[in-house]
Amino acid sequence: MQTIDLTQVSVVDNHCHGIMQDQTFDDLAIWRHSFTESTDPGMARDHVASTAFYRRLIRTLADFLGCEPEEEAVFAARIGRNGRELTGALLRAANVDTLLLDTGFPLSEKVFPISELGEIAGCRTEPMLRLEILMENLLAEHDSLDDVKEALAAELDDVRGRGYVALKSIAAYRTGLDIREWPREEAEESFYEYRQVAGAGHARLVHKSLLDTLLHIAFAQAARQEVPVQFHVGYGDADTDLLLGNPLYLRPVLQRPDYRGMPVVLLHECYPYTRQGGYLAAVYQNVYLDLSYGIPLLGYGEMLSFTRQALGVAPSSKLMYSSDGIGVPELHWISAIDGRRVIGEVLGEMVAQGDLVLPEAEAVGECVLRENAARLYRLKADKRSPTG
Ligand SMILES: [Zn+2]
Repeated sequence: MQTIDLTQVSVVDNHCHGIMQDQTFDDLAIWRHSFTESTDPGMARDHVASTAFYRRLIRTLADFLGCEPEEEAVFAARIGRNGRELTGALLRAANVDTLLLDTGFPLSEKVFPISELGEIAGCRTEPMLRLEILMENLLAEHDSLDDVKEALAAELDDVRGRGYVALKSIAAYRTGLDIREWPREEAEESFYEYRQVAGAGHARLVHKSLLDTLLHIAFAQAARQEVPVQFHVGYGDADTDLLLGNPLYLRPVLQRPDYRGMPVVLLHECYPYTRQGGYLAAVYQNVYLDLSYGIPLLGYGEMLSFTRQALGVAPSSKLMYSSDGIGVPELHWISAIDGRRVIGEVLGEMVAQGDLVLPEAEAVGECVLRENAARLYRLKADKRSPTG
């Protein structure tokens, strides 16, 4: 079977995070933490090294660094390199056209500033606004729910004018994707409960009727401006209740006719709910499915299988590549390598099976890796790298 060669296609990484300026690691266990979503100390110490993802990473990195394909040797070679220089080398090797960065995490003072990362990586970089952080800031500044709602609507009045290409919500981590409309009294009560915890300052916004109510303000603004909203869906750290991270919970939001102008991007292939996410992308014109090859840290076969599921049910015009890379440049880098390979292999299967002919498969590869995101996020061609 012929696989489709996508090695020369640059990628728009439609969802990733910043890279830490400090790339020093005191020991191997701390470095391993970069490759797990678990915060249990025993995971990095005893188990991460035996995942399929990590073993593939070690061998691929050994090739890149020119050392033995053993964990100790790779770690020694890795920490021997300057962090900034290594970040540049890996991201340039990944052939990235644009990185769309969730600026909500890690903290901005710890990561390379967005424009500097673009210079280091030789690519375009664009920020996205994390809604829950903006909401927590506004909750600290205003004394009534009405004032917070008004301030939020004002902050989101011109999202692109403020320099953001998209909004992002982590409601799945906080209170679940079953985002509802609440009677006024319940939202008010939730607001006062929040203020009791936060005092005059900040608190984690885990107050469901308050968060849901504020999200609806954001959705109305996003729909009016046709600004994409990314939702964390599925796999994440232990904070997430994976039962409530199922994208099917978004149905009441997706059914609202007045929200049809809001492109909804379901992140992380909704893993393990890829079929459900692909189904939503097949039935709602404004739903898109992100295919992330860094996190959720999978074996190669599992990446093949979610890619088959997505391409098997969703229109290819709805699928977009990402890494969800965070903290270390290895994730952004290996994701681009794996993503091209996996997508090329699945498209090759689809040609062999009669779903596609060869030129269609090649075009689909470019659309998923770059063009769909460039269109959806309105990335103007003149600001993208010339190789793109
Ligand atoms: Zn993310």
